[in-house]
Amino acid sequence: MREIRVLGDPVLRTPAEPVEGFDRELRRLIDEMFEAMYAVDGVGLAGPQIGVPRRLFVYDISGRKGHVVNPVLTVDDAEEAVDEEGCLSVPDRRTGKPIYAPVARASGVSVEGFDRLGRPIRLRARGSLARCFQHECEHLDGRLYVDRLPRPEARKIMLRA
Ligand SMILES: [Zn+2]
Repeated sequence: MREIRVLGDPVLRTPAEPVEGFDRELRRLIDEMFEAMYAVDGVGLAGPQIGVPRRLFVYDISGRKGHVVNPVLTVDDAEEAVDEEGCLSVPDRRTGKPIYAPVARASGVSVEGFDRLGRPIRLRARGSLARCFQHECEHLDGRLYVDRLPRPEARKIMLRA
């Protein structure tokens, strides 16, 4: 089982590289990412979170499940919505559970990329799925949801993590 990397691990702050080979190794990696995500009841997981600095993520949220390799995110509806958001890589030190905070995000996005066989895919999302896609794509650029919070809020979370 792949271990989930937490705040302080440099891989979380390193921009990930594109996936180049759509081979058996990639398919196994995707399976392992789902396994690691489900083991902790997560709804999304990006490569860097299991120490793999590659551009891909998996998700299973609001009845929609899948993976995207080399995703490119486009904002379709820039109107921001605020909702509670947490991250498997930012757990509370004592409970081990994600620390939630209200985060403003674009309401509607599209993600273009590839599936595990290298076939192009395009997904449109609103609501919690749109939030998830934005969160996961940021992981691939070495960014975390706490970066979007006002500094005092971010500090409070860092102290608990
Ligand atoms: Zn996260």
